[in-house]
Amino acid sequence: MALEVYDAFGDWKRARQGADPTAHVAFVPTMGALHRGHADLIRRAQQEVGPSGHVVVSIYVNPTQFNDAADFEAYPNTREVDLRMAESAGADAVVFPQPHELYPGGVPQRVPPVDYGGLTALWEAAHRPGHFDGVVAVVRALFRQVEPNRAYFGEKDWQQLAVVSELVRREFPDLTIVPVPTRREEDGLAMSSRNVRLDERERGGASMLHAALKAVAAATETVTEVRRQSSLLEQAGWSVEYLAVVDSVTLDTHWELGRELRAIGAAHFGGVRFIDNVPVPN
Ligand code: AMP
Repeated sequence: MALEVYDAFGDWKRARQGADPTAHVAFVPTMGALHRGHADLIRRAQQEVGPSGHVVVSIYVNPTQFNDAADFEAYPNTREVDLRMAESAGADAVVFPQPHELYPGGVPQRVPPVDYGGLTALWEAAHRPGHFDGVVAVVRALFRQVEPNRAYFGEKDWQQLAVVSELVRREFPDLTIVPVPTRREEDGLAMSSRNVRLDERERGGASMLHAALKAVAAATETVTEVRRQSSLLEQAGWSVEYLAVVDSVTLDTHWELGRELRAIGAAHFGGVRFIDNVPVPN
């Protein structure tokens, strides 16, 4: 079947009116500029819902989650490539929502603050004020439009995954969130829509954050290794925002025995901000 493309959720819903109500809907929300990481999410969705299900991808660059206006303005827009990529990964439909479908009163300057404890206070939340308020606002609105059975999120944005899981636990109890592992370039750099902005020098050094996280995850003396890797990054011209080993669910640095842990980090190199994370082996 050919890919269906809609420029509003209203059109998608009209087209779905005759659809089998028991067919599962798998949802992949994105901001476009699709790469192979996004394709993994779509492919996984397609595998899980099967031929009778419906895989819908949304593409919407959500202004309320950008804490940096220049970053929003410069966000890449590659509609035609995105459509080809979504189709070949197995999407049934791609929707470009109208802003009023997500923000009925118009896109606000500020959305209501969200308090999920440490999840919305630590790490990314501390360094990108308001970011998760915008993420929660848009993801909630998207889920209300799509009413999916399953929704797919990348582990690349680990804290986002934790925040969205908490939103779902509180407000969408019938929805299953499926985490999908991070797709990387050969040197370990996590794929990201923003990587197209890297110049040669930045691209050359960009995989260092991932290498640092792997070293931290493998170390027995975590604190010493965090310190060592942070200073290695700084010596190479990076500016580290945070590097830490945390409880994978609460993101707290005080973990108990037997909990799953994650090494997480964010740092600037050249003009670019990178985030990444890796599992800590048990
Ligand atoms: P974005 O378009 O950046 O909002 O990302 C849309 C979804 O794709 C989010 O759930 C991201 O976590 C996920 N994603 C982004 N990059 C990757 C990657 N390299 N590997 C796997 N998933 C990713």
